[in-house]
Amino acid sequence: MNPVRVRFAPSPTGPLHIGGLRTALYNYLFARANGGKFILRIEDTDQKRYVEGAEQYIIDALAWCGISPDEGPEKEGNYGPYRQSERRELYAAHVEYLLQKGEAYYAFDTEDELEARRAAEKEAGNHNFRYGAATRMSMRNSLSLSTDETEELLKNKSPYVVRFKIDPGQTVTFQDVVRNEVSFQTDELGDQVLMKADGLPTYHLANIVDDHLMKISHVIRGEEWLPSTALHVLLYRASDWSAPTFVHLPLLLNPNGKGKLSKRKGADLGFPVFPLRWDDHVKKEQFAGFREDGFLPEAMVNFIAFLGWNPGTEQEVFSLEELAQSFTLDRINNSGARFDIEKAKWYNQQYLIATSDTELATIVQEQFATNGHEIPVEKATAIAGLLKERIHLIPEFYLEGKYFVEPVTDYEEKPIRKKWKPELREKFNALADQLSNSSTWTADCIKEDVVAFMKANELGFGQVLPILRVAVSGTVQGPDAFGILEVVGQEESVRRLRVGYDAFDAIKG
Ligand code: GLU
Repeated sequence: MNPVRVRFAPSPTGPLHIGGLRTALYNYLFARANGGKFILRIEDTDQKRYVEGAEQYIIDALAWCGISPDEGPEKEGNYGPYRQSERRELYAAHVEYLLQKGEAYYAFDTEDELEARRAAEKEAGNHNFRYGAATRMSMRNSLSLSTDETEELLKNKSPYVVRFKIDPGQTVTFQDVVRNEVSFQTDELGDQVLMKADGLPTYHLANIVDDHLMKISHVIRGEEWLPSTALHVLLYRASDWSAPTFVHLPLLLNPNGKGKLSKRKGADLGFPVFPLRWDDHVKKEQFAGFREDGFLPEAMVNFIAFLGWNPGTEQEVFSLEELAQSFTLDRINNSGARFDIEKAKWYNQQYLIATSDTELATIVQEQFATNGHEIPVEKATAIAGLLKERIHLIPEFYLEGKYFVEPVTDYEEKPIRKKWKPELREKFNALADQLSNSSTWTADCIKEDVVAFMKANELGFGQVLPILRVAVSGTVQGPDAFGILEVVGQEESVRRLRVGYDAFDAIKG
C-alpha cells in the first residue's frame, strides 16, 4: 500500500471554523496513527475571496492545538510550494495536457454573453441553464468554432476560460469510507470551468493536481465536498491518474441538531465556534474564540475529536497522543454531530483537574494579573488547587476566586439570616482573637483551632463554618473553608471576620 499522506487544504477566506479544525485534526490523527505525513496546503487561488490574515490565523490555530504539519508553507518538504498561488505553472501545464488530450476546451463566451443566454433560457421557461453537452455547441468555444477561428481568438488574446468536457448520460460511482458507494449522474454536472479568465485554476483543478502531485493517499474532508467528488473522479480519469481514497466527514450541527453549525448561531447562543478570537476588520465584527474564552487546547482537541468519531469504548478523555493511537476511519460516524458547548466545558474541567497545581499556577497568575492583581506563585498554586474542581473555564479562577485578593463587599444574606446569632458575638470575637494568635497559619492548624473553639463553646460545624465562609469569601459556596482562610492570610482573615460580624449584625437588624 502507498504510504499514508494526507492534507488539510483550507482556503484563506476567513477564520478556521471548528468544523475545519476537526477536519485538520482527523487528518493529523490519521497520519499519526499510520506513520504517515500530514500536509498543510493553502488553497488561495480564489482571489476575490482572499481575506487578509486568514492564513496566519489558520497556522496559529493549528499550532495552538498542537496539530503540527509535517509539510506546509512554514515547513518545506519535497512536494512544495504548499500555497496554491505559488503553483500556477503546474496547473497551467496540466490544463494544457487536458486540452491536448481533448478532455478540455477553450470557451470564449463573455460574462455578458453568458448572462444574456441565461436570461433567454429563463424567458423560455428553463431556469437551470447549464453549460454542458446539450448546450456547448451553441456557445462560443473551441468545439463549436473552427480551428482557425479558435486560433485567431487565442492569438488576439481574447479572454477565455478552459472547461472540462463531460460526457452526458454517465453514472459516476466511487467508494467513500464513510458513505460507502456514492453515485452521481454526469448530466447533473455541466462542463465545469477548470481555468478562469485570470489564468488561475478553479478549486477543482488545483485540488486534483495537487493531491496527485503531493501523492495524497486519502482525502479526508467535510461532507459539503461530496458533490464535487464526482467531478474530481472524472478529472482523475481524464488525467489517467488513480484517485485517492475519499473520506467525507459528517456535518457539524447546531446545538438543537438542526442545520449546519454557524458562526451566527454561536454568537447568538454565546459560545465560540472558532479556536481563536477573530477580528473581522472589514465588517468590524469580533467573534469569540475557545482560547480567549478560557479553554485549554488539549480539552478542545479532545472535544472536537468526539464530534463525529468515537473509540468504541467508554473512555472519553484522550490526550492527543492517545487519540493518535486509537484513531481509525471506520469509527467515524455517518450522521451529523451535534455541537454541545456544555460537553466542551466538561472536557475543559477534566483537563483542569488533571493538570498539576504548579502547572496551573502560571495560568492563575495571568488571570489575576489581567484583573490588576500580581500574586506570588505559591498563592496561585494554592488557588489552582482549591478551585480547579469547581470551575470549567480559565477566567473563573479569578471570577470565582476574587475574594482571595479582594476584600468582601457583598455578603450572601440568606445563610446569615439563618445562622448568625448576635448573642454569640462575644464567642465569635474570641474566635477571631484566637485565630489572630495562632502561630502556624495552615489549613490544618486553622481547622484544629476552630475545632477546639467549637468544642469549648459547644458549637457544631453547621453553626460556625457558614459564618467563617461568608465573612471571608462572601458566600457559603466554595472550596474548603480552612483552605480559603490559609490563602487569604492570617491578618486579612481575622480582619474580615471582624468586619463581617458587624455586617451580619446589621443584616439581622
Ligand atoms: N479548499 C477547500 C476548503 O476550503 C478544500 C476542500 C478539500 O479538502 O478538498 O475546504
